[in-house]
Amino acid sequence: MEKIRLGISSCLLGENVRYDGGHSHDRFLTDTLGQYVEYIPVCPEVGCGLPVPREAMHLEGDPSSPHLMTIRTRQDITERMLNWSIKKAAELEKDDLCGFIFKSNSPSSGMERVKVYDENGVPAKKGVGMFARVFKEHFPLLPVEDEGRLNDPVLRDNFIERIFVFKRWRDLLKEKESRGNITNFHTRHKLLILSHTPAHYRLMGSLVAKAKEFPVKELHARYKGILMEALRLKATPKKHANVLMHMMGCFKQQLTPGEKQELLELIDKYRTGFLPLVVPITLINHYVKKYEQPYLKEQVYLNPHPLELQLRNHV
Ligand code: SF4
Repeated sequence: MEKIRLGISSCLLGENVRYDGGHSHDRFLTDTLGQYVEYIPVCPEVGCGLPVPREAMHLEGDPSSPHLMTIRTRQDITERMLNWSIKKAAELEKDDLCGFIFKSNSPSSGMERVKVYDENGVPAKKGVGMFARVFKEHFPLLPVEDEGRLNDPVLRDNFIERIFVFKRWRDLLKEKESRGNITNFHTRHKLLILSHTPAHYRLMGSLVAKAKEFPVKELHARYKGILMEALRLKATPKKHANVLMHMMGCFKQQLTPGEKQELLELIDKYRTGFLPLVVPITLINHYVKKYEQPYLKEQVYLNPHPLELQLRNHV
């Protein structure tokens, strides 16, 4: 698979673009995830023509449409930043991004819970950075996260899983837009979707079953919308355990009583928090190879992202 293209706040790559002339280098993003992705760096404040170093700024006013103000000299940067952000979001379309990683808490780049100050100077964590808001409105289905939330193993696993799914989806469209392609994609992603939300799993199953009723373009748009909404929902140990049991059922004829017992015990230990997900998954992968289970062999759920990232060792 060619590298996945992700937008990223430039300071996270170690570029000295912060207001104080420094950076916010994140080693996991550059050294580990960076092996699988190609980053497109974006610094909205430098991009819209502000110097480095520069005066610190923050958001003020109504959290749903705040102003971007410099703190000491009270300059209003709102128009300048908004105009630049709209132009930049349109420009990024050509880059085929599969996601964006934002710098948390920034009045320009923070994707949620950014401080917005009221007329009394009291902050409320209710805002979205000005560029991040424009970007999210322009690309509503694209996976986005910030580096702070990516320290949470569950959110990290979820985000990285989503960018890999998005990339596979992009590649599929490049190949050919057809109903057959969608059916194929859905079949391979069934258990992954089920681990996030049984309700969307059913909805998508019925959409694919009625594929002939929709023009191909509409089918793709509908499917993609539900898919990305589904994957945003957290996969919990209970939902994973349900998928693991489902997979165990696929080996009904092959597993010996001892193998069944061992797998059941591992699934239960995972569900109750004594083992990470990678343990029962590794055993199932072993059985898939041993018994050549054709349906499970194709399931993205068993290998949603590179093993080297060790994401399932911590969830
Ligand atoms: S948080 Fe955003 S605006 Fe601030 S330095 Fe980083 S990339 Fe630039």
